[in-house]
Amino acid sequence: MCKNKHDCKSPKECQDKRNTWLERTEKYVPIGRREHKKFIERMKSGEATIVLDRHLKKRKVERSVNTKDLLDVFYNGWVIERNKTDGPIALVLMGYVGNHRHPLHVVIHQLAGDKWIVITSYNPQTHHWKWSDNYNERVCFCNFEDEF
Ligand SMILES: [Zn+2]
Repeated sequence: MCKNKHDCKSPKECQDKRNTWLERTEKYVPIGRREHKKFIERMKSGEATIVLDRHLKKRKVERSVNTKDLLDVFYNGWVIERNKTDGPIALVLMGYVGNHRHPLHVVIHQLAGDKWIVITSYNPQTHHWKWSDNYNERVCFCNFEDEF
């Protein structure tokens, strides 16, 4: 159900997208979880690397997000979305960071086997109506085109 009560542009369309999202999530998130587990193991053994360069043009990591928070989400977070549409594998990781334990979503792409890059990160509370109460599920897709 779309939670964006103020301004849902098309509740029917939103609900259809939500259903598609749920189907894809059910199918692909378990795969993403295995990839994430392997990524953590290989990070710990020094075999995997993650590119954190903040100066790449296409990156949109918020300035307020520091490396410690990103690492916190890599190691302690969990996969909430996995996408692979004619591009690299993309995982959306969710975790809680900072003194106030606010939620943080981090989107990473696989560049090559053990090499990943952070594409974007954001606090989902800034678009709270798009997410379920625990920020693990998308519930509104109204501005889907603007995302990522
Ligand atoms: Zn909506």
